Amino acid sequence: MNAGAIIVAGGAGVRMGGPKQFLPLLGRPMVEWTLAAFLELPGVREVVLVLAPDAAREHGSRLSSGRVRVTSGGATRMLSVRSGFAALSEGVEVVAVHDGARPLVSRELVEATLEEARASGAAVPAVPVKDTLKTAEDGRWISSTPERSSFWLAQTPQCYRRAVLAEALARFPTENGATDESQLVERAGHKVRLVPAAYENIKVTTPEDLAVAEALLERRVPGLRPQSRCGFGFDIHRLVPGRELWLGGLRFEHPKGLLGHSDGDAALHAACDAALGAAGLGEIGMMFPPEDPRFRGLASREIAAETLRRLRERGAVLASLDITLVAEEPQLRPHYPALRRSVAGIFELEEGAVSLKAKSHEGLGEIGRGEAIACYAVASVLLACPAARRP
Ligand code: MG
Repeated sequence: MNAGAIIVAGGAGVRMGGPKQFLPLLGRPMVEWTLAAFLELPGVREVVLVLAPDAAREHGSRLSSGRVRVTSGGATRMLSVRSGFAALSEGVEVVAVHDGARPLVSRELVEATLEEARASGAAVPAVPVKDTLKTAEDGRWISSTPERSSFWLAQTPQCYRRAVLAEALARFPTENGATDESQLVERAGHKVRLVPAAYENIKVTTPEDLAVAEALLERRVPGLRPQSRCGFGFDIHRLVPGRELWLGGLRFEHPKGLLGHSDGDAALHAACDAALGAAGLGEIGMMFPPEDPRFRGLASREIAAETLRRLRERGAVLASLDITLVAEEPQLRPHYPALRRSVAGIFELEEGAVSLKAKSHEGLGEIGRGEAIACYAVASVLLACPAARRP
């Protein structure tokens, strides 16, 4: 069977307070768990991942590889399904449409639903309703208690023979508010088979679902809790006339500035080295060799952005930074709030996860004579275990 999957992950995550597809589940973005479930199946020849346009720009090149192609979706789920369907290759015979926010889908369920769709044209995984159902038209008073046994909760992947889905999408071209494709297929007159599914295949929609999903994932693959690691960084730069002074991403009014290949921001350099060290990723000199003329005058916030990108690639999340500057001048204490805010913004941390302090060097040595500024930093990261990394 030549099967293709459309994974729709273009939502705004209104009920989660933001896009949820990239929220970490045991240290790995949710959508990557979902992708991995499909990539385990050799019969799924291609996977079209439909992301919101912003997310497609940010994550598209990282997530596209081998069988995975990324495309941009529309404002509703159905518009995203249409984009994904248009991006499928000609040869795909059976199509699975899956929610990016169902990372717990099992290989067995995908296989069973695809097989049923191949045989009968259309198949939807579903579970029987467990709770008693009530209707309340006015939202206040119960008006009836329907017989529960005929109600099922539909999940994904909903699977279709390509021609069946193509016909339904073409027949109702303006039905873009539908919450699943099956209803278009049903209205087009096709019989849709129910496939018994698992209650575990939850859709992560509200914050408490994340905790449930993590608990279920951990039960499936024990030992996946992210590990906490810490790293240490140090930097020192000469203080010379005729340079701007940059520290923690802020420019200070000062007669001297830090000499360096980049802007010389020792605080950001030490913080980056600490974060890279915590994730076992080396140091900034390996990313931006000082002898490479392309990096002359580089803003250190670019170094920080690249550091965060490498951490994400490694499945690591920066959790905190503790930075100690050692400088005789300028006086940094009055600038603690602004420095902390700046560093937090650059490293995408809450302000509470950043600590920043400055010490003098008591007039001793080069730092004490105002010839240099040094910085020490400790970073902690949450690191997904090897088994949780991208396949
Ligand atoms: Mg440096």
